[in-house]
Amino acid sequence: MSANRRDFMKTGAAALGASLLTPYAGFASPLERNGAPLFSLATNDAGEYVLPPLPYAYDALEPYIDAQTMRLHHDIHHNGYVKGLNSALAAMKTAREAGDYDLIDRLAQKAAFHGSGHILHTVFWQNMISADKSGNPSGLLKRQLEKDFGGVAPFIQQFTATAKKVEGSGWGILAWEPLGRRLVVLQAEKHQNLTQWGAIPLLVIDVWEHAYYLTYQNKRGDYVDNFMNIVNWEDVAQRLEHAMS
Ligand code: MN
Repeated sequence: MSANRRDFMKTGAAALGASLLTPYAGFASPLERNGAPLFSLATNDAGEYVLPPLPYAYDALEPYIDAQTMRLHHDIHHNGYVKGLNSALAAMKTAREAGDYDLIDRLAQKAAFHGSGHILHTVFWQNMISADKSGNPSGLLKRQLEKDFGGVAPFIQQFTATAKKVEGSGWGILAWEPLGRRLVVLQAEKHQNLTQWGAIPLLVIDVWEHAYYLTYQNKRGDYVDNFMNIVNWEDVAQRLEHAMS
């Protein structure tokens, strides 16, 4: 990460004061959780993206997501997207310096795929927490779910149905659409397709087979239903407040 960003992350909320970081008085919004940045993608001194740490132990989400799945998913799969994004950006730089744009369309596709994969996984880890700490939607998040979906229960029904029906590999996504200023439930195919431009992901569920196959095999529906037991609703609420501000 850049020096400015690094210093900002180090001093964080303490230096700026909670009032500047949060639009709603009394709502503490830390910039990181157990060393993983909440609202940014970490970079190293060379400006390359780095894999953020999981904000909990590999086995924290059991029995709903097993430790081996978390280890492979975070350490191997997510890291592959980080490397792929860095590789695409480096190749773009080489192309610019050489004035050779023969492969630039392929590089743009790689940046979209790996960049979206990196962003969605970064949000996904933070969206989850051990079941005993999951909580419920409250405050602004609850009110906005009521406004845009008619309540928490109808939202959960729409969200889980949407995720279960993703064709092939992809995601179910609750996002804030900032121009229309409303919550939307979308699908992503792979990581980058079917979005609305500008939509900010708040709650995402990875429905690639690598996210659930060791425990659930072909039963994606059971995985999606169980995911709702380990949603970190406080994290979703923080993301909504951050997106709306
Ligand atoms: Mn994944």
